Amino acid sequence: MSAPRMYKTEAVILRQRRLGEADRILCIYTPAYGKMDVKARGVRKTTSRMSGHLQPLTRCMLQLAQGHVNDVVAGCETLESFQPLRENLDRLSRGLYAAELIDRFAPERMHSFPTYRLFVETLRRLAEAEDLDQTLRFFEMRLLDQCGFRPELEACSGCGSRLEALDNSFAPISGGAVCHVCAGGIAGARVLSLNGLKVLRLLQHGSYNDAMRVRIEGPLAREVETHLRSFIVSVLERDVNAAAFIERLRREGARHAVEA
Ligand SMILES: [Zn+2]
Repeated sequence: MSAPRMYKTEAVILRQRRLGEADRILCIYTPAYGKMDVKARGVRKTTSRMSGHLQPLTRCMLQLAQGHVNDVVAGCETLESFQPLRENLDRLSRGLYAAELIDRFAPERMHSFPTYRLFVETLRRLAEAEDLDQTLRFFEMRLLDQCGFRPELEACSGCGSRLEALDNSFAPISGGAVCHVCAGGIAGARVLSLNGLKVLRLLQHGSYNDAMRVRIEGPLAREVETHLRSFIVSVLERDVNAAAFIERLRREGARHAVEA
């Protein structure tokens, strides 16, 4: 029997699950091979030297041996642990949300350099940024764009006419913003304020720094979040689990603020 082919790749661990007594299956995201499952042997033993490097949301360099079903981790080295994400639940919940979106959107075994770069940059930003939610909105809009689901924000996605500078609607099923004439006939259309449209356009066209220069808070921030979330849920045809975790932290944060 010949030795298995070995290769190296950079990766971010998206999630892990147990396999048997001591092993784990890791779902990893890589620049050249996209998303894939790999097997990590013995990492649940207390003596494992690898387990610390293979936690979710760690960027590492992996050495992999080609296997029959899953390739097997033969060595690993941490490149970035994004430590602040692990020390703060608000940051962690956003990091896990970003990882879940990558998991849902990324195809298996298909190179995706721009999306990999976007994901790593987003984890770095979530480790440092003050406005975590706006950082996520920027990530969501770029990810939709890179995966071929760019929301239409210039013309009505129902009739194609130019959107007027007033309140319109947003309808995921139609592909984006819709004019007030079309909105009545489209299921799930919700009011899109003029400021909401401007923020969505800024997220779509601007750089990260452009997007972060404008402070978006309160009802406007919630409106933009609701529209983007409904669009993502419509594309994925399912809910994003980590979104509920963020909601719970928000509710608890609000309760603590009231009690204090
Ligand atoms: Zn229309």
